[in-house]
Amino acid sequence: MAGEPQADCLFCKIVAGDVPATVVRETDNVVAFRDINPQAPTHVLVIPKVHYPDAASLALAEPALAAELLREAGEIAAQEKTVEPGYRIVFNTGPGAGQTVFHAHAHLLGGRGLEWPPG
Ligand code: 5GP
Ligand code: ZN
Repeated sequence: MAGEPQADCLFCKIVAGDVPATVVRETDNVVAFRDINPQAPTHVLVIPKVHYPDAASLALAEPALAAELLREAGEIAAQEKTVEPGYRIVFNTGPGAGQTVFHAHAHLLGGRGLEWPPG
């Protein structure tokens, strides 16, 4: 069922504390931790504690939670001092777009120049 923990999901395991992560911020509903393979000086993954396969599924089922996730990403950008000159929030969706973990997550990237369009 949507929102239920998935036994084979890496990010559900991080939420449960079964896989360690460097947590930078946590609320009752959202947890944020550093990406294990950072692509920028600031590279934080912001995830809902409940399981949805991607951002659109999350927003459809729990719009308030999707909004909280974005708000938290903004708070972390401030915490990481990346609001100036700017940061990027990315939701890779589907294998062709580079999604490898099918638990909704925002990549917060900052701390270096970010080119547009991305690759
Ligand atoms: P995706 O490719 O699905 O958009 O993003 C998944 C991200 O999870 C990748 O950037 C990858 O580096 C990161 N990742 C994969 N395994 C782990 C892990 O065990 N711990 C952490 N902190 N990040 C991970
Ligand atoms: Zn999950």
